[in-house]
Amino acid sequence: PASAAANDSRYIDVLILFTKAKGNAKLAARFRTCVASMLRHASVPIHYHLVSDDESAAVAADAFRELAEPGRIAATTPPYRVRAHSVSEMARQLHGLVSHLQAHFSYKPGAYYSDALFFLSVALHRVLDLRRVIMLDSDLEFRGDIGALYDHFARFKDGHVMGMAHEMQPVYRHTFSAYRGRHPGTRVGGPPPGGLTGYNSGVVLLDLDRMRRSREYNDLLNASVISDLAAKYSFKGHLGDQDFFTLISLEHEDLFYTLPCTWNYQLCTWWRDHGYTDIFEQYFTCEGDVMVYHGNCGSQIPS
Ligand code: UDP
Ligand code: MN
Repeated sequence: PASAAANDSRYIDVLILFTKAKGNAKLAARFRTCVASMLRHASVPIHYHLVSDDESAAVAADAFRELAEPGRIAATTPPYRVRAHSVSEMARQLHGLVSHLQAHFSYKPGAYYSDALFFLSVALHRVLDLRRVIMLDSDLEFRGDIGALYDHFARFKDGHVMGMAHEMQPVYRHTFSAYRGRHPGTRVGGPPPGGLTGYNSGVVLLDLDRMRRSREYNDLLNASVISDLAAKYSFKGHLGDQDFFTLISLEHEDLFYTLPCTWNYQLCTWWRDHGYTDIFEQYFTCEGDVMVYHGNCGSQIPS
């Protein structure tokens, strides 16, 4: 049942997609690290929303049971609640909303139900009745307080509907290379601080109320608008939601709050060795104390 947390405004809502975890020990271990580190530093009660198949929900339940054992987390840790949402039900609802995006932002030619999940953050405002949600990957390790991350919602300017940190690799320099070739000096795909570097969706602050209310945002979910944008920027991606957000950010920067990179410090360096050695460091920079490490592309998180 929807717990009391649903009506308790002290709780912050945190959503994690957690699927196909049965038999995937690495994924299960990463999930435990993510949740344990988050709770260890948390100053606020957390309502977890897991989008899972039954078997993964059971793996997650084991992880939470383990955490609840004496001595695992401090007695001063704020309370937390866990609710599992059916991944197949979410996929079914999402599919109707995002199937037209799948052609532009995923590998596979067909628009499969399950692939709709890669666009969960894009249309979450249409399927989940909450005001604000922090959506997280499970390959994260917290070094700071998620309450302080949540406080960034208060820094959104008028018009911002969501917040993310920059992508820390030249992924979009690559994706937009054809456009960049035709437009010397463009900001598209350029490094921070001046460039339109693109976003990483491992940590996303979603103001679902604002997403529901924003005419500008909802118009961008339209099939022909996206086809036109993809054609204009010669765009073909495969990273799902973050590709979509990056593409629309080129002409709608005003929708996005840029979260400090310290809240999503990405460790993947794949592109350093794949044609971008010389300019890699321009993208792979982040000043300040790391609050959240993101072990993307399977990267090891420093101990
Ligand atoms: N995920 C999952 N099951 C899978 C693969 C991915 O639940 O079999 C979820 C998980 O929360 C993960 C997120 O999808 O953190 C995104 O995938 P991943 O972090 O591996 O992508 P990367 O950050 O390396 O691009
Ligand atoms: Mn990740």
